[in-house]
Amino acid sequence: MRPIEEHLARCLAAVEVLPAAELALSDALDCVLAEDVATGIPLPVFDNSAMDGYAVTTADVGAATPDRPVTLPVAADVPAGSRQELRLAPGTAVRIMTGAPLPAGTGAVVPVEWTDGGTDTVRIRQAPGAGQYVRSAGEDARPGQVLLRGGTRLSPRHVALLAAIGRDRARVRPRPRVAVLSTGSELVRPGHPLGPGQVYDANGPGLAAAATELGAVVHDAGIVPDDPDGVLSVLAAQLSRADLLITSGGVSAGAYDVVKEVLSGLGTVRFDKVAMQPGMPQGFGTIGPDATPIFTLPGNPVSAMVSFELFVRPVLRTLWGLPEPHRPSVTAETAVGWASPARKRQFVRARLERRAGGPPLVRPVGGQGSHLVADLAEASCLAIVPEEVTQVQPGDSLHCLLLDRVR
Ligand code: AMP
Ligand code: MG
Repeated sequence: MRPIEEHLARCLAAVEVLPAAELALSDALDCVLAEDVATGIPLPVFDNSAMDGYAVTTADVGAATPDRPVTLPVAADVPAGSRQELRLAPGTAVRIMTGAPLPAGTGAVVPVEWTDGGTDTVRIRQAPGAGQYVRSAGEDARPGQVLLRGGTRLSPRHVALLAAIGRDRARVRPRPRVAVLSTGSELVRPGHPLGPGQVYDANGPGLAAAATELGAVVHDAGIVPDDPDGVLSVLAAQLSRADLLITSGGVSAGAYDVVKEVLSGLGTVRFDKVAMQPGMPQGFGTIGPDATPIFTLPGNPVSAMVSFELFVRPVLRTLWGLPEPHRPSVTAETAVGWASPARKRQFVRARLERRAGGPPLVRPVGGQGSHLVADLAEASCLAIVPEEVTQVQPGDSLHCLLLDRVR
């Protein structure tokens, strides 16, 4: 049996970060930025008004109160988008809208709500502080300032910022393309009737969802029966369209374990027993002209999902140039004890219970058979029992991988 770290290190060593491409901003959401982005313009671009109101000098309106309002002639009217180059003459006000360029010499903006809203003259009932309601050029960002670092996963907020500085394209690592294939003559696509001896394909949709959650563009290559030629031809067809292949099923020691049969000796694919429970039989390597990485995960749905978390997730993130390959984890105290296999790291489906003033409690969910998908769905974490522990005692501290995405 190989240690988990050794298997993971072999997987990580086989992949290279995807090449960057220049994409239109409309396609860049969720992509990983492959450049540091500096702004060429100040933000705000020019001094402008933060309110609909009146540009004034503070000296002219400093004495304004509700009882003793100040009245000024309105010298001009400036809407947003105005190209007029104005200078505020002392003793006058300029009517101005939000986002409109400030006349030179403006000391502050009086919100329209503090006035009678006049267009020839304006009565001002309250004095603004110096600079109030003025948005100064460059207060948000100065020209030349780096606003986004390479490695940032572009969110809608980042897209808005890129647009605000005038960028219509960005150099990014596009979302990795992942093809998912389920193998097994017993498998049926959900939505179709089950015949004798058949089960629904849980892994295809589940693994596709896991890769999608990470940001990959997923192609569901469907189900192939346990037929060597069928498996090979579907895999060959996926090579040109995927950066990463994931299969499930057909890698144990049984007869008809065709994935193992057809991929053994192909490219660099190797099948190993990894010291973990669930998910001991693992296959990984690169195949095809582009040395496309392929994971051949075990068929039991819990094994497949745990294997995804441990191996596929870090490889996908590395491929994409993202930091923090693993899920976040917390340390929790076990609520109950249970047995754990010797010389294997056990990943126990469990739920965390938060407690005031102490570490959370972790409690296993249901049984630990690797076919128990209902229990997997109920779990919120995987509690990790080290290789050397054969009996977990109540009150033991365990690291727990958090399974739920923070939304
Ligand atoms: P295998 O790894 O092919 O020996 O499969 C191990 C167990 O997982 C068997 O009970 C299979 O029926 C089941 N299994 C394999 N693939 C899937 C799948 N895609 N969805 C649900 N169960 C599966
Ligand atoms: Mg099978």
